[in-house]
Amino acid sequence: MATREPDIAILGGGLAGGLIALALAERRPELDVLLIEQDETLGGNHVWSFFGPDVPKADRWLLDSLVVKAWRDYDVAFPGYDRTLATTYYSITSERLDYELRQTLPPRAILSGQRVVEAQARELRCADGTRMSAGAVIDARGMRLAGELSGGWQKFVGRTIETRKPHGLERPVVMDATVEQLDGFRFLYCLPFSATMLLVEDTYYSDSSTLDRAAVVKRITEYCRCRGWGVKRVLGEERGVLPVVSGGDFAAFRRATGSGPAKAGTRAGLFHPLTGYSLPHAVRFAAALAARTDFSAEALAEFSEAHARAEWARGAYARKLAAMLFGAAAPIDRYRVLERFYRLDRKLIERFYAGRSTFADKLRLLAGKPPVPVGRALAALAGRGEANRLRHGSLRAEIA
Ligand SMILES: Cc1cc2nc3c(=O)[nH]c(=O)nc-3n(C[C@H](O)[C@H](O)[C@H](O)COP(=O)(O)OP(=O)(O)OC[C@H]3O[C@@H](n4cnc5c(N)ncnc54)[C@H](O)[C@@H]3O)c2cc1C
Repeated sequence: MATREPDIAILGGGLAGGLIALALAERRPELDVLLIEQDETLGGNHVWSFFGPDVPKADRWLLDSLVVKAWRDYDVAFPGYDRTLATTYYSITSERLDYELRQTLPPRAILSGQRVVEAQARELRCADGTRMSAGAVIDARGMRLAGELSGGWQKFVGRTIETRKPHGLERPVVMDATVEQLDGFRFLYCLPFSATMLLVEDTYYSDSSTLDRAAVVKRITEYCRCRGWGVKRVLGEERGVLPVVSGGDFAAFRRATGSGPAKAGTRAGLFHPLTGYSLPHAVRFAAALAARTDFSAEALAEFSEAHARAEWARGAYARKLAAMLFGAAAPIDRYRVLERFYRLDRKLIERFYAGRSTFADKLRLLAGKPPVPVGRALAALAGRGEANRLRHGSLRAEIA
């Protein structure tokens, strides 16, 4: 049994756990917090990006020191048209999160290279047998999916490259769907970090979670060649297989991830149903948690439960769009759903990603001729029909 008994033990030093630790250090410095991570470094290996309107100004303090790059606008491109949207876009990286955590927290607040194998509301056990008590335990060990949610997958390989000559890209390309459509809806995503440094990511909205890395890397190389980007060096690579959720039993999902400690991050189901992105959710959760006064295990578990339920309700509309994408559109036609979406008003698009669609937005999104067969669209939206039974897979994976 370890002699130390922190006020709060956070399990998992990834995005959600890291942001909670930073938020508590800033707003509740009197609390003794311990962040426990299985890897030696914190934050994993990611570039996390978000649209400016996804994070309210009141919560920006939590991200200010983490942002490595900001852009004023971004592009999308489809076979039928392309568009520049005047919405700000930001990126943060794992390296920066690791650095900031180590700068901000006292050394005793970080325990890396330690795997937690058992977690209760006030106790935990590590793989080396160490047991520890804490005032409260927060489980932020990443996504677990055991089949309670349904939908499909967003999977990708991203390569950060240095180009031989300036690549000429001035702003992010959040979706370039002019490429050959394979394995569902396919698009390239490009972030220009400097005149000669780019992240190029090949993404698939697919029925299957299998990612053929070698084939995707080849396609990234081919895309760079077609864009005239001679690759001098590959600086890094990231991979992801994220759930796209069109429905499911959220209460069962919560139960399956354990009933002991409070949960945070993707483990708590806090992510956007259509994109699998969780940064704005993690910021909201960390900021709200740090504003609390009661940090007892019971109070945090209740807070986490209520917060997750509210976010699930807020995601209802995005799940309908995911249902349309996976339930009604043939894989080869999925791009039409997004192509139509991106023709809509910029503010409506911003509100959709931020989970703040208004009633009028929802009507507007469904108004007019759907980009997929009407019968199947209605069945998918109603959550019934052959299309759903056939195409909505049961989501199972240990993603972290
Ligand atoms: C490559 C990639 C790129 C992404 N890009 C974006 C993006 O641009 N924007 C966005 O919003 N979202 C993005 N996402 C989706 C999502 O936001 C991330 O997956 C995010 O990291 C999830 O946060 P989390 O804290 O829930 O999980 P993680 O960040 O995965 O953190 C979980 C942490 O827990 C640790 N852990 C797991 N088990 C144990 C254990 N037993 N003991 C101790 N530690 C443990 C893990 O090592 C990890 O560090 C991306 C995902 C991936 C994979």
